[in-house]
Amino acid sequence: MAYVTRIVIIGGGPGGYEAALVAADLGAEVTVVDRDGLGGAAVLTDCVPSKTLIATAEVMTSFDSSYEELGIKVAEGVSAAGARVVGVDLGKVNRRVKRLAVAQSHDITQSVTRAGVTLLRGFGRLAPGGQDVDGSRGVVVDLAEGGTQELRADVVLIATGTRPRELPDAVPDGERILNWTQVYDLDELPEELVVVGSGVTGAEFAGAYQALGSRVTLVSSRDRVLPGEDPDAATVLEDVFRRRGMNVMSRSRAESVRRVGDKVEVTLSDGRVITGSHCLMAVGSIPNTGGMGLEEAGVRLTEGGQVKVDRVSRTSAPGVYAAGDVTGVFMLASVAAMQGRIAMYHALGDAVQPLNLKTVASNVFTDPEIATVGYSAADVECGKMDAVCVKLPLRGNPRAKMQGIRDGFVKLFCRPGTGIVVGGVVVAPRASELIHPISLAVDNNLTVEQVAGAFTVYPSVSGSVAEAARQLHIRKRASADA
Ligand SMILES: Cc1cc2nc3c(=O)[nH]c(=O)nc-3n(C[C@H](O)[C@H](O)[C@H](O)COP(=O)(O)OP(=O)(O)OC[C@H]3O[C@@H](n4cnc5c(N)ncnc54)[C@H](O)[C@@H]3O)c2cc1C
Repeated sequence: MAYVTRIVIIGGGPGGYEAALVAADLGAEVTVVDRDGLGGAAVLTDCVPSKTLIATAEVMTSFDSSYEELGIKVAEGVSAAGARVVGVDLGKVNRRVKRLAVAQSHDITQSVTRAGVTLLRGFGRLAPGGQDVDGSRGVVVDLAEGGTQELRADVVLIATGTRPRELPDAVPDGERILNWTQVYDLDELPEELVVVGSGVTGAEFAGAYQALGSRVTLVSSRDRVLPGEDPDAATVLEDVFRRRGMNVMSRSRAESVRRVGDKVEVTLSDGRVITGSHCLMAVGSIPNTGGMGLEEAGVRLTEGGQVKVDRVSRTSAPGVYAAGDVTGVFMLASVAAMQGRIAMYHALGDAVQPLNLKTVASNVFTDPEIATVGYSAADVECGKMDAVCVKLPLRGNPRAKMQGIRDGFVKLFCRPGTGIVVGGVVVAPRASELIHPISLAVDNNLTVEQVAGAFTVYPSVSGSVAEAARQLHIRKRASADA
């Protein structure tokens, strides 16, 4: 496909800008159209800001939960029994969050520009009329500065991401009823925050604001928080949340949220009403596909509006690829970037490996963190994967004891016959860093013997990963002997 040279990418998040870098490297003529700024929602409103806020929350938690046990002395008179000894200046935290987000967007803009990519600020859509005889198609850009510009493209990549879902009776006002993109405008810490939604975003914000000093109620329509995660991990987190004083309301569906003076009232479907000073809505997101002429161009969408793609990011329309959250495949920045790169490798005729979701590592940035890779307990339970499992609580780990860590575990799954590691879960502070050896094992089909055979530092929390592998080896031998 040497004739493919003109590539237009609509959306400049990780799916779009990573694709642009690859395509430029491969010699294509690349234009990225974005309406908000490079880095996309990942950098400007979602991933980067939330993890920056959580960095402050993490320090607060580790101080609050361990200063007495670890023998840290606070200045006299500061520590009344049960009172917090440190506080947070939310205005300052949020200014730092925004500064970092803008700086990262700027860095990305610079590296994309250096790679020779043309950037256009505006709203992109496919031009009516489909493909020309030479296979190219038009992309119309409603420019931010006014006017429109039409581009010709041999390949178009749709990487337009998602936006927060709104309930009709709980529309954010940006002051007291907020979505996750609006919280960084707060100067004062919410006194009583009601978080609606207990998926990853809801759990992360609920944990963070509680650590920062808000009284938090988490409204969950399901039996437990994080319904999509490992059930043991979710149970640990819910226990920790409750122990730290969070009001976790399970099986409670929020029907409406309204502002009453300087309070908010959240009405549940069973008629109960919860009040708070602020409410954060975290009820999922919807794909940015409207007004882009996608279906008219033959791009098939799911019922939920996501762009349907195959494992090399092709849509149903020739020459149109899609990557990232807009495809609904796996809502992670790392997956968006991988889908974008794969699209460009495929479109430009380079060597390409189809997307393999079974090696994706992900993390919930709560305290403790929950990191996961490969096949899960649910996959084993429903028979999708035949695996044996060992779970080691961190309570028995020497480093964890020294650090005062009581909550968490390492869980490892391997094939019963070969001992090949197929998945794992780590629940611990900084689990996002500890999952990597398990990711390497899953990615490279390593056996539990190989994982157990590698040295770990003594004392270290990662020692529990090797210990879990040793125990799986013993269990495997015992079942082979039986
Ligand atoms: C609160 C929160 C925290 C998260 N934390 C993490 C995390 O820690 N780790 C992780 O891996 N993932 C995280 N995610 C998910 C991650 O943010 C997404 O997976 C990632 O943003 C997807 O990237 P993308 O390129 O698909 O789209 P986006 O990052 O959403 O970028 C899409 C861009 O396209 C632009 N756009 C949309 N329509 C058009 C149009 N028609 N024309 C021009 N431009 C358009 C948008 O304005 C945006 O700039 C988090 C998500 C949320 C909500």
